[in-house]
Amino acid sequence: MPHSFVFLGERLWLDFVNTDDLHRGVRTDALRDFDALLGWLEAASVLDAERASGIRRRAQQQPAGATAALADARRVRAVLRALAERGITANDVRQNAVREINRVLGRSAGIRRLEGRPDGEFVRSFVPVGDAFAGLMIPVVESAADALVLGELLRVRRCADQRCPRVFFDGTKNGRRRWCDMTSCGNRAKAARHRRKLTEDRLVVSR
Ligand SMILES: [Zn+2]
Repeated sequence: MPHSFVFLGERLWLDFVNTDDLHRGVRTDALRDFDALLGWLEAASVLDAERASGIRRRAQQQPAGATAALADARRVRAVLRALAERGITANDVRQNAVREINRVLGRSAGIRRLEGRPDGEFVRSFVPVGDAFAGLMIPVVESAADALVLGELLRVRRCADQRCPRVFFDGTKNGRRRWCDMTSCGNRAKAARHRRKLTEDRLVVSR
């Protein structure tokens, strides 16, 4: 069964971190192979279908290159997860993320473009020249770079459910978003509070 991707981080780099997810209590990697990585980039609207199919063809011709690109994407993801979870307090984590972002930006050559989509929305895109795989992580690391430039780390949180690994940007006015998703983690917490309250009420009554 194909993994469905979740986009609830409100920032591209955080959605990318969330591809390392938890599904029914088991840690699952939505980037299980190179094709899944391309699928995610398409779902995130940073790669259009035509370009993705071109890269898929290239991956068939150069499977070792594709495998290396996937390993590289996971490495970027691990560094960005650390940035999301501890970047605000740990200077070394921030410095490491800056090095990683610059590593990705430094080895890719290509053309940056702004494109209008058929639905009227606009997207930034990056058309790599030369190594087709090298530029794939550019939009993701640029999104993380934006977070550092704009000072957004203060508003980056991990879900309040300790078992849930999801991270997100808290864009609420009062800065009180606690859950990755109100329909899953938020709802479970509400139900647990409700059960606790029922138990407490019963204790009060029986006293
Ligand atoms: Zn959660």
